[in-house]
Amino acid sequence: MTAHSKFDVVIAGGGMVGLTLGLALARSGVETAVVDGLDPALVVDAKFDGRVSSFAPASCRMLEALGLWAHLAPHAQPIMDIIVGDGSAREGASAALLHFDHSEVGQGPLAHMIENRHFRMALQRGIEGVAGLTLIAPRKVVRAMQGRGAIDVELDDGRLIAASLCIAADGRESPLREAQGIKTVGWSYAQTGIVATIAHERPHRGTAYELFLASGPFAILPMTGNRSSIVWTERSALAPAFLQLDDAAFLGEVGQRFGDQWGHLSLDGPRWSYPLSMHLALSYIGPRFALAGDAAHGVHPIAGQGLNLGLRDAAALAEVVIEAARLGLDIGSEAVLGRYQSWRRFDNALFAASFDALNRLFSNDVAPVAAVRRMGLDIVDSIAPLKRFFMHQASGASGDVPRLMRGEAI
Ligand SMILES: Cc1cc2nc3c(=O)[nH]c(=O)nc-3n(C[C@H](O)[C@H](O)[C@H](O)COP(=O)(O)OP(=O)(O)OC[C@H]3O[C@@H](n4cnc5c(N)ncnc54)[C@H](O)[C@@H]3O)c2cc1C
Repeated sequence: MTAHSKFDVVIAGGGMVGLTLGLALARSGVETAVVDGLDPALVVDAKFDGRVSSFAPASCRMLEALGLWAHLAPHAQPIMDIIVGDGSAREGASAALLHFDHSEVGQGPLAHMIENRHFRMALQRGIEGVAGLTLIAPRKVVRAMQGRGAIDVELDDGRLIAASLCIAADGRESPLREAQGIKTVGWSYAQTGIVATIAHERPHRGTAYELFLASGPFAILPMTGNRSSIVWTERSALAPAFLQLDDAAFLGEVGQRFGDQWGHLSLDGPRWSYPLSMHLALSYIGPRFALAGDAAHGVHPIAGQGLNLGLRDAAALAEVVIEAARLGLDIGSEAVLGRYQSWRRFDNALFAASFDALNRLFSNDVAPVAAVRRMGLDIVDSIAPLKRFFMHQASGASGDVPRLMRGEAI
């Protein structure tokens, strides 16, 4: 690379959203550089990220359209049923109130669970040999400076990249969003997501559980083999005590919350913890600048949709940029970026607000609130069209669906 290289687009942040977006752009002939601060070998290591993400059917169609699904299929666990329960720790799964069955909406699974490290590996394989995509890592973007007809991005080794558009997909803290003066609104939930992989004796049969306990939701998500990922939302003041328990005591706490229908439980890997917060960027765009993924919005993981929303940003932004490039328009212009913002900002705000409301409603043991939500779950369970509506929303098939998420090439 020369001291001043030129690309159509430079993406700061090659996480799951940034790299997917880079792949989508480059496959359609938009010359793209993706810069990430972390070593690619590190981010696929089992010790880097213990999370497992649920991929909605629309996200899976996008991964198929981008040629990634073949790498992912062996590692993807289909979710066939979701059981929602409003129960205390002692009631566990016996308090099931709502059952989503895949056969109520079609033939396919409700979603697929894939370990984040497998998705990152698939992305690294998927970008191999893609002309027009340059991954620069480990290297940090230190700033972006708007000039006449271009934006200059400076890396931490002093290199400069000139592009028509700079996209920040640099995560929740998004240093570039801050540097561009884009403000956010949001708050901490005073909750911590405790994540661990649990191996169990009996098969899960592709069933996911979401149990609403007083401290917050407790999700058990099926993984390949006789394994499940737990996402245990706990009050942040109490989380360290649970994290410090020895394995037997920790598993005892897990067993209390879930019950014993899977037989003997053991830990398959370390425990992880993530502080939970919500934020929304007040603007998604600036001069020759756009935000995508967690840089634009962070949502409560109650419905496992944060990455799905980020992938939807990537699909919409790729579509807008590629169409503009084909028409010979300036891909960094306000008109082009404005189309992306009006496509995605309201949608993300609506989802963030819904997950926030769900978390408040369900992370609570006050008797009248518990009675109302039990009634609400009963009503949803007994009205088939209402259930189908929720399943449709979660599948990513509602609203103005980007072409990649319909499984079409751009
Ligand atoms: C407990 C938990 C469970 C979750 N479960 C689900 C789920 O089931 N389904 C789902 O859809 N979502 C889920 N999510 C949300 C999901 O994990 C995030 O939405 C997703 O990881 C966001 O991806 P991203 O690429 O936008 O950001 P990140 O993954 O944060 O990536 C940002 C990248 O930017 C890089 N970077 C940062 N600064 C710079 C810089 N200056 N220069 C260069 N690079 C930089 C970083 O190295 C990183 O690689 C969950 C979240 C939590 C906390």
